[in-house]
Amino acid sequence: MRWISPYFEEGTWIRGNFHTHTDVSDGSHTLEEAAENYFRVCHTKASPWMDYRFLAITDHTTTGKKEMYRPIENTDPDKKCILIEGREDSYSHHILGIGCRMTFQEDIIQKNQADYTLEDYQRVIDEIIKDGGIAILAHPHWRFADYFSGEMTAKLERYTAIEIINGDLYSGPGHLATDVWDAALTAGKRVWATGNDDFHSVRDMHNAWNMALVKEETKEGVLDALRHGSLYVSNGAVFERLYTDGDWIVAECHHDSLFDLPEKTFRFIGQGGQLRQIQTGKGKTAAYKYQGDEQYIRVEMCLSWGMAAFSQPFFPEK
Ligand SMILES: [Zn+2]
Ligand SMILES: [Zn+2]
Repeated sequence: MRWISPYFEEGTWIRGNFHTHTDVSDGSHTLEEAAENYFRVCHTKASPWMDYRFLAITDHTTTGKKEMYRPIENTDPDKKCILIEGREDSYSHHILGIGCRMTFQEDIIQKNQADYTLEDYQRVIDEIIKDGGIAILAHPHWRFADYFSGEMTAKLERYTAIEIINGDLYSGPGHLATDVWDAALTAGKRVWATGNDDFHSVRDMHNAWNMALVKEETKEGVLDALRHGSLYVSNGAVFERLYTDGDWIVAECHHDSLFDLPEKTFRFIGQGGQLRQIQTGKGKTAAYKYQGDEQYIRVEMCLSWGMAAFSQPFFPEK
């Protein structure tokens, strides 16, 4: 038996946010200010995982100010930052499009939110894909518990990821959404987790982010990692490596001596969100051996300081 790892075998870990608003919609900052906030505040050579390297700009389609919009190419002459164009389709429950152009007032469904069917959401996803984008279901527990329910995540097709942590502190981020992610994975979907600030102003910064293992530090490299699942979600914990070795899945906490101090709890979670194995202690490595009935296994690592990191699922080879 061999595990299929979503992680590239080699590459560079880089940090980024896939959900950013600017003053083109309801954000408080210009594109340049938003980028500057991320790249100035976090720029520290001592701890490369603290350094933001990519940012997707995802203004709302409903409130976008057309006169203020401009494509983001060439807005970062210093190449400090990989900027990725996208949008947040907001006519009904929000769906992020990453790597596609912003569109304005193009309501392809033309229904009240309450009248949206699963087919309507599928059309929104397919429109993002038609525009060259990657679809992410945003904040599944925002406003009410089943904003995107487990039934919806299990039935919708062709989306790439779910935003399991959302950091928008103004309108309330909603609960951790690993439950609807597990529902999708248990239904046989191969979809990934992302965690994002949903940046509207500086109050939303650094609440959740993605560490992507990229083959190249370019926009295409980031999009490739997102499609492939070569990334993990964090709000403060850092993995050194996530890999497979025969029957084993191995998760390693970052080797930096900073992480010698806290206890680490590694949870290996499978279908139905079931806890399959747990390890707590100062040890930086945890491993899980294939038992024979797994549909998938994903790893959560929680530091005794309270921060956590969430791996993507590993699948047994059929
Ligand atoms: Zn939203
Ligand atoms: Zn948003």
